Amino acid sequence: MKQHQPGQWALPPDRAEEGFADKKPLYTEGEAVAEASRCLYCSDAPCIQACPTSIDIPTFIRKIGTGNVKGAARTILSANLLGQSCAQVCPVEVLCAGSCVYTRWGREPIAIGRLQRYAVETTLSKDPGLFQARPATDKRIALVGSGPASIAAAGLLALEGHTCILYERKALPGGLNTLGIAPYKFKGVEALRELEWILSLGRIELRTGVEVVERATGPGQVSAAELLASHDAVFLGLGLGADSRLGIPGEEGEGVHGATHLIERLKTEPGLRLEGVQRAVVIGGGNTALDIAHELALLGVEVALVYRRSEEEMGGYVHELASARLDGVRLVENRQLVEILREDGRVVAVRLAATREGRPVPGTGEVLPAELIAVAIGQDRATHVARAFPGVELDERGRVTVEPTTHRTGHPKVWSGGDCVNGGKEVVNAVAEAKIAVRDIQRHLVGSEDHGRSVD
Ligand SMILES: Cc1cc2nc3c(=O)[nH]c(=O)nc-3n(C[C@H](O)[C@H](O)[C@H](O)COP(=O)(O)OP(=O)(O)OC[C@H]3O[C@@H](n4cnc5c(N)ncnc54)[C@H](O)[C@@H]3O)c2cc1C
Ligand code: SF4
Repeated sequence: MKQHQPGQWALPPDRAEEGFADKKPLYTEGEAVAEASRCLYCSDAPCIQACPTSIDIPTFIRKIGTGNVKGAARTILSANLLGQSCAQVCPVEVLCAGSCVYTRWGREPIAIGRLQRYAVETTLSKDPGLFQARPATDKRIALVGSGPASIAAAGLLALEGHTCILYERKALPGGLNTLGIAPYKFKGVEALRELEWILSLGRIELRTGVEVVERATGPGQVSAAELLASHDAVFLGLGLGADSRLGIPGEEGEGVHGATHLIERLKTEPGLRLEGVQRAVVIGGGNTALDIAHELALLGVEVALVYRRSEEEMGGYVHELASARLDGVRLVENRQLVEILREDGRVVAVRLAATREGRPVPGTGEVLPAELIAVAIGQDRATHVARAFPGVELDERGRVTVEPTTHRTGHPKVWSGGDCVNGGKEVVNAVAEAKIAVRDIQRHLVGSEDHGRSVD
């Protein structure tokens, strides 16, 4: 098995993401202890119920308060191996902190995410050897993709002593955790550091630049049939596909970007400058649209976020819209983009139509000047890869179908979780689904349900 070297997947210097300030920086010890002392340690803690991975929040907060920071990290990571990223990227406003009793009383909730970050980051930077894997077994599990779903599953399976091989088609591992999360929340380097920690937990090999396909035709490919034949179980953590397109005149050519692709460039491309871009139009009403709009605004671009319905109907979080607005994003609601206007090939403006119930009203229209367009209207599904595994089924929306209590697919050796199953949720949901799948994989491999003992 190939050993990984620390820093093996270093990001290039001079990336745009380096210029973003951390919106919720690491607490000092004094800040953490003071915040922990506000927690009421509720016996029926609603914050735990709101966490998809059921982290015992009052217990870890109490440990911070008593100076047992390592114990706090252990409590968090036993429930959620991606406790570092979740501390920084979770929408706590609608999960744990949103359910905190203080929120119900109209007061400032406990800063659960920041306390979690303090415990995990402080501990892992000094003392990463928190968990001991069980003795090695002869079982081998293939995991397709290296995003949060596959990484969490691999870490838990490795702690059970199994050999895990992650197959990642991109050169950089980590999925959207490395390449998609807004850089003012979590930077790519932090995602890669957490990934390396998980790789160190046991017998995990990560093969980047290897795509799983139906029929392999070259060295950078491996077939689904080969994975099934050479492993005892397969986990599909495929995520979603490419950015969806608008299909309107003027879309082809420079200046029009799929939102996740543009975010990935901001996070990884050396020396990327948005030269000549003063105004941008972002299309969409979900969290990806809010993220790219916010990121462009923080880079000094004047951003109009165009949504075809009303503000109340937007899919993105209210707190993310409020935060983007504070940094200058302007919402243009009830408008649809109908044409991108170019001069000498360069984008100069967009034509908008007023909408009624999300549809353009003929004869209406206005022109909005812009040099850059970011399209955030959804992502395709990774259907062709899933279909390469016989028995794996997809629903009408292209999501991998699983049995919800086990996350097993229609193939008896194949499990799945994360965005390819739930259609695109959060990192914490990918981890929670990986936990369900691992429990069933363990039952399948060794006939036992005691998964998690090595962690607890
Ligand atoms: C712009 C953006 C911002 C987000 N911000 C947040 C946030 O702030 N907080 C939050 O909690 N969540 C956020 N999310 C959602 C979160 O990133 C996802 O829910 C999470 O990453 C899902 O994990 P996953 O492992 O299912 O998929 P992914 O992270 O997409 O990983 C899938 C991996 O599989 C690989 N892969 C796919 N097919 C193959 C194949 N055939 N062979 C080999 N490899 C393959 C892909 O290259 C990818 O690396 C955001 C999403 C986006 C798009
Ligand atoms: S609900 Fe709030 S106060 Fe109560 S245990 Fe959870 S974090 Fe502490």
